[in-house]
Amino acid sequence: MAGPTVALRNISRQPFTATLIHGLYCDCGGKCGCRIERYTSTDRGDDGALRNRSGTRTAPSSFTVWAGEELGGFHPCIVRLPGVDGALARGILIARDEVEAEEAVAPQVKESPPETRTRPRRIEAAG
Ligand SMILES: [Zn+2]
Repeated sequence: MAGPTVALRNISRQPFTATLIHGLYCDCGGKCGCRIERYTSTDRGDDGALRNRSGTRTAPSSFTVWAGEELGGFHPCIVRLPGVDGALARGILIARDEVEAEEAVAPQVKESPPETRTRPRRIEAAG
C-alpha cells in the first residue's frame, strides 16, 4: 500500500543534500531506505588474539536535490528531518504533497493493438 508522498523542490541556487536518518525517516515511514553494507572489523580479544568480525549493517542513504529541481517520492516524514525542516524554514526547500500515482495517472486502458497493416509510404520525389 503506497501512501502519500512528498516532493521537495530546491528553490535555492545550491544543491541541497541531506541524510535519511534511520531513526527518524525509516522508523517514521515504516520502510527502511537504508543501504545494507557488509563490514569486517578486527578486534583484539582479551587473550590478545585478533578476531575478525563481520556482518551487515544499515547505512543511511542520502539524497541531493539540485538547484531548481524537484525530487519526489519521499515519505511525508521527510519534512521532520533536521536538515530538511531547517531548509524549509529558511526558504531553501519547498515541500509539496504529491498526488498518489493512482489518481495522477489515468488508468492504463488496454487498447486493442494498433492496426498492423502497413500503409504504403508515399515517397515524394524531391524536385
Ligand atoms: Zn533505515
